[in-house]
Amino acid sequence: MNKLQYELLKQQNNKELLTQAQKSAFEYIDNISKQRVFPNETNLGKLSVFDEPLPTATSDPALLLELLSDVGSVNTVAQTGGRYFGFVNGNALPVTLAAKWLSDVWDQNAALYVMSPIASKLESVCQRWLNQLFGLPEQTAAGFVSGTSIATLSGLAAARFRQLQKLGWDVNQQGLFGAPKIRLILGKQTHGSVAKSISLLGFGQASIEWVDCDNQGRMIVEKLPGLDESCIVVLQAGNVNSGAFDDFTKLCQLANKAQAWVHIDGAFGLWAKASSRFDEQTRGMELADSWSVDAHKTLNTPYDCGIVLCKDTEALTSALHQQGSYIQLSEQRDGLLYTPEMSKRARAIELWAAMKYLGRNGVAELIEQLHDRAIFFARLLTDNRFIILNEVVFNQIIISCETEQLTQKTLSLVQQSGECWCGGSTWNKKSVIRISLCSWATTEQDIRRSVDVFIKARSQALEI
Ligand SMILES: *Cc1c(COP(=O)(O)O)cnc(C)c1O
Repeated sequence: MNKLQYELLKQQNNKELLTQAQKSAFEYIDNISKQRVFPNETNLGKLSVFDEPLPTATSDPALLLELLSDVGSVNTVAQTGGRYFGFVNGNALPVTLAAKWLSDVWDQNAALYVMSPIASKLESVCQRWLNQLFGLPEQTAAGFVSGTSIATLSGLAAARFRQLQKLGWDVNQQGLFGAPKIRLILGKQTHGSVAKSISLLGFGQASIEWVDCDNQGRMIVEKLPGLDESCIVVLQAGNVNSGAFDDFTKLCQLANKAQAWVHIDGAFGLWAKASSRFDEQTRGMELADSWSVDAHKTLNTPYDCGIVLCKDTEALTSALHQQGSYIQLSEQRDGLLYTPEMSKRARAIELWAAMKYLGRNGVAELIEQLHDRAIFFARLLTDNRFIILNEVVFNQIIISCETEQLTQKTLSLVQQSGECWCGGSTWNKKSVIRISLCSWATTEQDIRRSVDVFIKARSQALEI
């Protein structure tokens, strides 16, 4: 046995590194409510200790972990606490984190059944449960990917395969040069990741027909152009700023009649389907052909955990097909058939843990809680002279002050406070503050404390 192997075996057997990591992790958890939500300048300055040349020799793993814990933990964004409202990031339910820890030790590759029977089994179970939760046809296929960006890429690749086939063109065989034209129909408020997928798939931005949206960011049904089987329509369950949902029933009926493909970007909003409170928003969602959704946002699994769902299994697997002399498909589920990646971590494990723990009612309760907190937050802000620009139909709030300048200054002071964090955005061409409620941990107390930060920031901004 050589020296390195001897060291590694020793590390594995005595488990001291895992124990050390666990101790640091527990300290982090215990301090999360006291930690700044975004690091201060002093801590950010400490990051320069990582700027060293590639080491020549092996180093002490315990010291390495100590460095990571000491300098790393204070330079995290405390999104697992209750006062992070930035982007649409989400937290991690304790049981999902625990399941991930265990599965990290297993280090499974979810590409093939023969690489991991447990990953294959839990992917099948998650697929079945997601279809039940979202009210989709039983045979809808699910692919487990890193996030919604890749889920949308996969859904649109399936759409590209099927729509071109309807027009007598085999895109896998013939490629895109000389192919019949495909029209992409997108609302003007579509998330940027969709346009990226369109570029990656070779359609070009010029093939996009932008449809006007109303003041909540919903596609205006009357503005939808005439559709046919060369069309792919992308709708939204949860506008990234306002949280608004498109009118799926009307839009999907028009698309279905014309044999156009509909993809729904439901990164954080698709989970609304779990609660009858959001029936009005989610109605007709099942009439689409494919969907993308993140478990790492509103469902609160750890990153990275996205899902593509596709009614047309043949289109999805044809678009993402892979062959190789050594690839051994089985009678069981082989995960690589449904995703662009081959090797991938077994992310369905955390998803399974979340759904098994919460059950349908627990998912509903979690999502309703996010909505309740958003309403409460918006009410306190309104009471304190902030202007709420959206209908709080889900977990998102768009805020402004009397002037754009005051909005920007207030936002900047809120971000510097370290007490809470939220981001900015533009809404109807104006700078706004954007809040997303997506952590199970946020309490009413967290919101009161954050609103106090807002009030203080605004009055400070008025003095500058
Ligand atoms: C977050 C988000 C995306 C991108 O998802 P990733 O998981 O970050 O790839 C796409 N659309 C919407 C509406 C989102 O909120």
